[in-house]
Amino acid sequence: MTTPDHEDVRVAVRKLCEKFPGEYWRALDRDRAYPQEFVAALTESGFLAALIPEDFGGAGLKLSAAAAILEEIHRAGGNGGACHAQMYMMGTLLRHGSDAQKQRYLPQIAAGSVRLQAFGVTEPTSGTDTTSIRTFAARDGDSYVVNGQKVWTSRAEHSDLMLLLARTTPPEQVAKRGDGLSVFILDMRTAVGLTIRPIRTMMNHATTEVFFDNTRIPSENLIGEEGRGLRYILSGMNAERILIAAECVGDAKWLIDKATTYARDRVVFGRPIGQNQGIQFPIARAYANVRAAELMVREACRLFEAGENCGAEANMAKMLAADASNEAANVCLQTHGGFGFAEDFDVERKFRETRLYQVAPISTNLILAYLAEHVLGLPRSY
Ligand SMILES: Cc1cc2nc3c(=O)[nH]c(=O)nc-3n(C[C@H](O)[C@H](O)[C@H](O)COP(=O)(O)OP(=O)(O)OC[C@H]3O[C@@H](n4cnc5c(N)ncnc54)[C@H](O)[C@@H]3O)c2cc1C
Repeated sequence: MTTPDHEDVRVAVRKLCEKFPGEYWRALDRDRAYPQEFVAALTESGFLAALIPEDFGGAGLKLSAAAAILEEIHRAGGNGGACHAQMYMMGTLLRHGSDAQKQRYLPQIAAGSVRLQAFGVTEPTSGTDTTSIRTFAARDGDSYVVNGQKVWTSRAEHSDLMLLLARTTPPEQVAKRGDGLSVFILDMRTAVGLTIRPIRTMMNHATTEVFFDNTRIPSENLIGEEGRGLRYILSGMNAERILIAAECVGDAKWLIDKATTYARDRVVFGRPIGQNQGIQFPIARAYANVRAAELMVREACRLFEAGENCGAEANMAKMLAADASNEAANVCLQTHGGFGFAEDFDVERKFRETRLYQVAPISTNLILAYLAEHVLGLPRSY
């Protein structure tokens, strides 16, 4: 049994994270290297299988428990970005896959012997406008032949399977632009015509661009019905947003702890800098904002777990938490003065890491556009 706050889960994650202190993340960051040992420990502990039902070998926990796991990783100064998708990407398979697909993949994903943590949606020319993706999967006998390119396909080098969104019917032949897209499970271990190129980014994120040159996918790897892929992908996005919001809450708490400790200890002009309102008020404001964001994450989890529509709350949670962590990062850096820029303090690393969530997996503007249109009834702006 877990408490509503999943305190037992949190304690176990904290204990695991103690083995991966700042030095560990700092060294990886310097080399842009993948946190193999951390991901292995997390896999072994079963935390990455939190959301997979027990029938398929997972822990069968609620979304709020998964959120607690990711929050604690970030609160400990770590980064779940290297493997968080292993937790939630199987959701598309779980909800829309056939029994045979679930039996084939879910137990292996739960055991960690198969990694499903590459998500091929974004393309260089389509950007946020997913309906205009160009990667095409043409049916040919009992397989599909894929040609095209994805960008920002994170963890592709550290995943066995990719969940791939591709067009299967040209846009001019469908009634709605969102139709004619399909989702596949691509086995990257055996795929031919697949090229993966890493993209070096401002933080350590193992992201890549992926090229498909007549890459064949057996038709049995199509998830659900052909042409309905966008719906299947969208149905998993609330969970993704909530979980990433939880990571941002963890980042913000780590940054606020770090700022507070430094503000107490650092003495300038014969007194702790934290005695100055110019230092303590921004920290206090950042604290209030993360607590508010945390409430929205909980509300989004509550609605999700009750099977209710949580689109607005999931989006608001992601935006408010990403804003709170970004604010906390700024405040923490400022509180540290020059030392905030020194690698050894980990502040500049977290500052870079948490900045991502203003843009990915959905940018703030698009969340505002969603709220304006779908909650406030304003005209669609794009
Ligand atoms: C490190 C990293 C990892 C990622 N991992 C993955 C992954 O694993 N899989 C995957 O598929 N994608 C991934 N992404 C892609 C990410 O989801 C996109 O970068 C994000 O959705 C924004 O799309 P874009 O970069 O094409 O920006 P664009 O769509 O080109 O937008 C650029 C800017 O314009 C703004 N904008 C665009 N349209 C509007 C509008 N109508 N109104 C107001 N503002 C607008 C956006 O908010 C943004 O600020 C990743 C990105 C990064 C940077």
